[in-house]
Amino acid sequence: MSASKPSAKTSTRQPQPFSPQSLAKGSRLQGASLTHSVCPYCAVGCGLNIYSKRGEVIDVEGNPESPINEGTLCPKGANVFQLVHNPHRVKTVMYRAPYSDHWETKSLDWALDRIAERIKSAREKGFAAEDADGNRLNAVRNIGTLGGAVLDNEENYLIKKLFGAGLGVVSIENQARI
Ligand code: SF4
Repeated sequence: MSASKPSAKTSTRQPQPFSPQSLAKGSRLQGASLTHSVCPYCAVGCGLNIYSKRGEVIDVEGNPESPINEGTLCPKGANVFQLVHNPHRVKTVMYRAPYSDHWETKSLDWALDRIAERIKSAREKGFAAEDADGNRLNAVRNIGTLGGAVLDNEENYLIKKLFGAGLGVVSIENQARI
């Protein structure tokens, strides 16, 4: 069976109606700066495309070039945009003293000093240079650390170095398992 030649009527594209306004329309991402990043929520590590204009994030999407997610994001990752634009996000240190019924706003310096003081005093109480048989321990077993999947390799390295090699903490954990 031979293929029939298309008629002049079907092979000619008809002009479509348009307006100058529709010609001027473009993607909202047009002209935006693109920054590649990684979703902070879980250990899958999906690639993100972060679009910004005039220093403000305007959109976050899955990176189609990422071999991990190929442009897709789970519902949680699809809401990464709200990490930046969210009126409910707490941006200051909130502290509730023992037995208190309310939160207080504190400075970051105050919180860091407080954490350092508490780690120091706990370590002084928990440090064991030797076990009962005189074997060297240099271990701290009354402090533990729990990291999250948002931590990258370098941060985990620093945590291991500071708490393990530096302070002698034995219990160094991370929630990510992959
Ligand atoms: S998009 Fe979902 S699956 Fe991917 S890293 Fe984020 S939380 Fe994990």
